[in-house]
Amino acid sequence: MTKVENTAGFDVIAARERCRRFRLRILELSQGVSAIHIAPAFSCLELVDSIYFHLMRRNANGSSRDTFLLSKGHGSASQYVVLEELGILNRADLDGFCKAGGRLGTHPDYGISGIEAATGSLGHGLPMTVGMALADKLQGLDRVVHVVLSDGELQEGSVWEAMMLAPTLRLSNLIAYVDLNDFQSLGQTSKVHPNFYPVLDKVRAFGWEAEEVDGHDHTAIICAVQARKGNSPFMLIGRTVKGKGVSYMENAPIWHYRSPSPAEYQQAVREIQEAA
Ligand SMILES: [Mg+2]
Repeated sequence: MTKVENTAGFDVIAARERCRRFRLRILELSQGVSAIHIAPAFSCLELVDSIYFHLMRRNANGSSRDTFLLSKGHGSASQYVVLEELGILNRADLDGFCKAGGRLGTHPDYGISGIEAATGSLGHGLPMTVGMALADKLQGLDRVVHVVLSDGELQEGSVWEAMMLAPTLRLSNLIAYVDLNDFQSLGQTSKVHPNFYPVLDKVRAFGWEAEEVDGHDHTAIICAVQARKGNSPFMLIGRTVKGKGVSYMENAPIWHYRSPSPAEYQQAVREIQEAA
C-alpha cells in the first residue's frame, strides 16, 4: 500500500547531536522527580528520533500525516522531548513532568498534544495500531502507523494475537519497532525467557516482513525501513542498550525506574557531553 518517501537531506550528524540534547533534557527532567524511567527512554531514543524526524511524513503545513504510538509508555520521556523539539509540547509542559499540577505523567495519556492513546499498560499498543491501520486502509487514507514496543512487552499474549492478525489483514501501512535491549523491568529478558530468541525468526514466521539492525544507528534504522517491500506489515528489531550513553546506567536493572542523585546527575551529564 503506502511506502515511506525517501526524503533527501537526512543529516545523521545533526540527528546524533539532537539525541545528545534529548538525553541531557531527559536527565534534567529527572531531577526532583521520582517517577521517571530514564534507561528505557535512552534505549529507544534513536528509534523514536528516526521515526519522527525522518520516517513520518509531513503535510504542507508541517503537521504529521502519519501516526505514532509509544506502546512502551514507560519510556515516555523519549517522546516528550521530541514533541517539545517539534513545538507540539512546550517547555512548561516538560518542566511540569511528574510534578503536582503538571500535564505530563509517567506514561503518555490521551488528550495530551501529540499523544494518540494512553499507553504503558504493556501489550496494548500493537493491537491498537492494528485497528488504526485497518481503519485507515478501509477509508483509503494514505497514512502509515508507527508503533514502538519493548522486548519485555513481547511476553504479553495480546502482542502475538495482533502479530498474527496484521499480516492476514495485509496491513502494509503498519510499521512496528521493537526496542530489543534484552532487559525487562528488573530482569534480563534472555534469562527470564531463554527461548525468547531468535525474535526475528518468530516475527517472520507470523508473516511479517522484518529486519534486525543496531537500534542506535539512525542510518541503519532508516535504510531498513525504507528498503521494505511494503506488501505486508513491517517490523524492525532494533538491538539497543538499556541506559545507552551513561556508563553506570547501561544494562544495570536498577536504572529501569530511578532518578540520579545530584552527583550521579553531574556524572551522567559529563559523560553525555564528552561522548564522541
Ligand atoms: Mg526491554
